[in-house]
Amino acid sequence: MEKLPKREYPVERVIGRGFSEEDFEIARKLMKGRFEEQNITALEERQKTSEEIRIIQQVNEATNALLQRYGARPLDVPPGNVHIISPEHWPESHKDASAFYEFYLQAIAYQDLERKTALAYRTFHEMLHIKFHQASQFVENGSVRGFMPYRSGLGLSSPKRHGQAPYFHKPNEAVIETLAIEYWKNEIEKNPEYADEIKNLNAFKKVLLECMRTEEGRKNLALTEENIQELYYVNYIEEADKYKFDRFSYEEERMALKTLIRKISERKKILEHEVFDIFAKSAATGHMVGLAKLIDGCFGKGTFKKLGEMSRGDSIFSKDGVAKEPGPSTKDLLDFIKNL
Ligand SMILES: [Zn+2]
Repeated sequence: MEKLPKREYPVERVIGRGFSEEDFEIARKLMKGRFEEQNITALEERQKTSEEIRIIQQVNEATNALLQRYGARPLDVPPGNVHIISPEHWPESHKDASAFYEFYLQAIAYQDLERKTALAYRTFHEMLHIKFHQASQFVENGSVRGFMPYRSGLGLSSPKRHGQAPYFHKPNEAVIETLAIEYWKNEIEKNPEYADEIKNLNAFKKVLLECMRTEEGRKNLALTEENIQELYYVNYIEEADKYKFDRFSYEEERMALKTLIRKISERKKILEHEVFDIFAKSAATGHMVGLAKLIDGCFGKGTFKKLGEMSRGDSIFSKDGVAKEPGPSTKDLLDFIKNL
């Protein structure tokens, strides 16, 4: 396969009305500068070990191979752009996340779980956010004035639509998480480097599955067997005499995407994994026309647009003092897909 030239920084595309070529050049320089300047005091990171640096470099290579597979230009994300933060310093604004990609800082933050496997898998997910197609736009809205995301993978944001809520946010997360789980299964579970951690995890899963055989165990665990299969982190916290769990993310969103893919596959007589690849390719390259045609061709004109609206995330701006608007629930999205 022909090797595509590397990108230098993630957000190469900037859009804005009334911008001159010089303005665009300034904007691009700003985005490049943010990506390169990673001495961020707001993130109270700890120093990475040489082993962690090596793992991040491996994930960088693996995500580049994936971009190449989907016809998108590779991009090196240096270990300096991945910030490992201990739980006590984890930012309150992201308290429910185990990792995130911050557009304004062009940085990935990862909450330390003291597991190499968790670092590899979580970084893989966030690196796809940073490496998939991104474009920025200049937004002026009340007191907000600055560059905001316009495209992020399949995501599409506009200040005119639901206060900058990213359309297609849910399928975008589902595509990325599906690929991260694939990386877990094909690389992390098989690489001797992680064998000890995987052995431990599997031993925990076995104990949990045994607990599920009793009524009391099922009640105490509040997990399904599928949930247990999707655990990537289990730890016993001695002080609290409690287990701490973490499992693969976006379960409902992945279910919604799977349901949609199955329908398209049946109607168009295309294999499910080939339909998935069409979604992934669109997210990686930012080209949405083929995907839009496929979906409208299957379910009627206007369905793609409606799908974007139904799968949007929460709004970023509040409107006229009214609280920020949450996007439709994932259950509503699944019902919408089921009724197509
Ligand atoms: Zn994500």
